[in-house]
Amino acid sequence: MTTNGKAKAISLEFFPPRDIAAQEKLVRSAKQLLALQPEYVSVTFGAGGSTRSGTVDTVRMMQNLGFDAAPHLSCIGATRAMLAEILDGYRQQGVRRIVALRGDVPSGMGADRGDLHYASDLVRFIREHSGDWFQIEVAAYPEKHPQADTAANDLEHFVAKVNAGANSAITQYFFNADAYFDFVGRAHAKGVSLPIVPGIMPITNHSQLVRFSDMCGAEIPRWIRQRLAEFGDDKASIKAFGIDVITRLCQNLLDQGAPGLHFYTLNNADVTMSISKALTR
Ligand code: FAD
Repeated sequence: MTTNGKAKAISLEFFPPRDIAAQEKLVRSAKQLLALQPEYVSVTFGAGGSTRSGTVDTVRMMQNLGFDAAPHLSCIGATRAMLAEILDGYRQQGVRRIVALRGDVPSGMGADRGDLHYASDLVRFIREHSGDWFQIEVAAYPEKHPQADTAANDLEHFVAKVNAGANSAITQYFFNADAYFDFVGRAHAKGVSLPIVPGIMPITNHSQLVRFSDMCGAEIPRWIRQRLAEFGDDKASIKAFGIDVITRLCQNLLDQGAPGLHFYTLNNADVTMSISKALTR
């Protein structure tokens, strides 16, 4: 499926490596993934600034490898002055896109949650401070953010981020395409017209997937849980099953009108490569 004869864009997400061995692995993965010609790659940021230098360094590394690189930036625990300094640094580094987030409240953080409380405040601040220099991506939650009391309130908060000046959105991952299309339909009904790009989580590790999904509120359908439980420690079967399930999800999303795909690569190349190569975009 193409838009104006061009393949729909994909983007890739990485996290800053913790040590030299992880860094070498990330470089190998990123070099392989260059073949997919992603529109951009994004690099996560530890809320509270815990990976600030790791994010800056990884963004520079991705730029040096030839990618258009977009740092994630979260506002929780930060002052306006800290955020301004980070934004100015990225501008000098030639960064043109930022993923703007509130971030998760780090455990042990006291009452002082910083100058800005929500991602919509951060988007507004970036526009005030940097004008239109940055393309701003925000997060969207087809299955509701876990801290939101209702899906309707969460949607209102999403619309507030859009109205504050976001250009595009990336969703939390999900395994049920209907949840995504329902969310997009409700956002359209509220007048949102920016692209809402599905975030895609590969399935490679049962316990890790359950842990992540519990934290972020993504539903793992019962049939997927059952199949994963049956595979036990058989990593090869989990990987083959995961590639099959996620490739079908991605093709379904593209065929029904999703504007592109954003892969949570977990710093690995092979599964994202296999899925992307199998897709008709
Ligand atoms: P917000 O949009 O501010 O929403 C947070 C919660 O507050 C929601 O429940 C919302 O409904 C509610 N809310 C918003 N505005 C208001 C208001 N005015 N009044 C009352 N309630 C309100 N985390 C990281 O730490 N680092 C990362 O790099 C990172 N990357 C991510 C990338 C993507 C694509 C996604 C989907 C998530 C990412 N996260 C990351 C996780 C994210 O930080 C958490 O989900 C966080 O809890 C919410 O961030 P947000 O930007 O969506 O917040």
